[in-house]
Amino acid sequence: MEDLTNAQTGIKEACGVFGIYQFHKGNVFSLIHSGLYALQHRGQEACGIAVSDTEGERGNIRSRKGPGLVSEVFKNSKEEDFCGNLGIGHVRYSTTGASVAENAQPLVLKYAKGTIALAHNGNLVNVSPLREELERAGTVFHTTTDSEVIACLIARERVRSHSVEEAVLKAVSRLNGAYGLVIMSPRKLIGVRDPWGLKPLCLGKLEDAYLLASESCALTSIGAEFVRDIEPGELITITPDGITSKRFTHPMAEKEARCIFEYIYFARLDSTIDGVSVYESRIQSGKALARSHPVDADLVIGVPDSGLTAAKGYSLQSGIPFALAFYKNSYVGRTFIKPTQEERQTAVSLKLNVLASVVAGKRLVLVDDSIVRGTTIAALIQMLKKAGAKEIHVRISSPPFLHPCYFGTDVPSNRQLIASSKTPEEICRSIGADSLGYLDLKDLPSIAGGLPICKACFDADYPMEIS
Ligand code: SF4
Repeated sequence: MEDLTNAQTGIKEACGVFGIYQFHKGNVFSLIHSGLYALQHRGQEACGIAVSDTEGERGNIRSRKGPGLVSEVFKNSKEEDFCGNLGIGHVRYSTTGASVAENAQPLVLKYAKGTIALAHNGNLVNVSPLREELERAGTVFHTTTDSEVIACLIARERVRSHSVEEAVLKAVSRLNGAYGLVIMSPRKLIGVRDPWGLKPLCLGKLEDAYLLASESCALTSIGAEFVRDIEPGELITITPDGITSKRFTHPMAEKEARCIFEYIYFARLDSTIDGVSVYESRIQSGKALARSHPVDADLVIGVPDSGLTAAKGYSLQSGIPFALAFYKNSYVGRTFIKPTQEERQTAVSLKLNVLASVVAGKRLVLVDDSIVRGTTIAALIQMLKKAGAKEIHVRISSPPFLHPCYFGTDVPSNRQLIASSKTPEEICRSIGADSLGYLDLKDLPSIAGGLPICKACFDADYPMEIS
């Protein structure tokens, strides 16, 4: 479902963040730019970069942000316009706040005690009372994002705190919800991960620079070394004097709850989150599916790209050979994000074409990572049948989507979720499959290496109270 996500299915990640502090001068712009390229899968609506020179004029932050992909927003940007050795970046998909240019990040805020820039991945569930409280105290908001609420809380706390870290800690103690934050003050780079661990954040090193990123793929793809994950409820401060770490708690964070969907779908295959390889977890999900929903078949095939790894796992466990059944046209991109159902269906066949010689006359196990509305999988089944497939047994490497996500994943409303109004048998019939099997809920913890997880979009067991 991966590349089809935005176009067809409607599950979207909130954002990706990146930060870097190069201690002995240097220019971090191009490294942030490359890091954001590696995080582009986490958000394609807008992006931005903010850079400052720690030895230059204090609080002078140069930034550019706007709607579009990294390649579009920074098409005409010159490195010399963004000189600096400290910077942060952001890729955005909007879940809170409209999809408009002013909601792009990083946010740069000038206040009584200086300047900060902030980039946020995630979503708060108590943003309304916080916003109201700040507005009553005279804050004027320029965006509709919850990220600006966080930045304003930090700015307010900074006035009565000894350090920016202290202000950030006071601010995050008020936040209910998901956040991976990178914050830049004139001389510091700060990373914060919510105490539930809902959103990932990790630390890397490249020569004399330390980096923060939503995913390890953004570190390794620019040649940096992955150092470690930021722990749930950890704030780290990076300065030329070294790295300091502070742990914090929250009264509602009784247990950790990493978003299982990072492993199932969002994160890039070459990332590792909290010590668990995303590739391995998808292989495990396929193996678990093969154990719980076996079937007699000739070939296991996957929906490119993210269904392929789970399909490989299904094949390894079942002994049924794995095959590539689709050719993916990588040049069909955002131009084909279509609003209507018919247009979306056409876009599926433009993006994926069936290798008829592989599937003709075969009984197939077709693996995908999720079914949201059922449109994409129905279109693919139709294409496979037209190409001569004899049987199609659909296996989904996640349980049925039944509930909305409040933490920054844009799962459509219940009304649009096919599993909320149809039984698996009815879904099977409506998509035209010969059989349908979902990953069992009980198998979810094992695919995240046994770590505590959030799986609320499948079982409504939210890790905090949702008002
Ligand atoms: S509700 Fe689902 S998508 Fe949202 S954080 Fe929990 S597991 Fe992730």
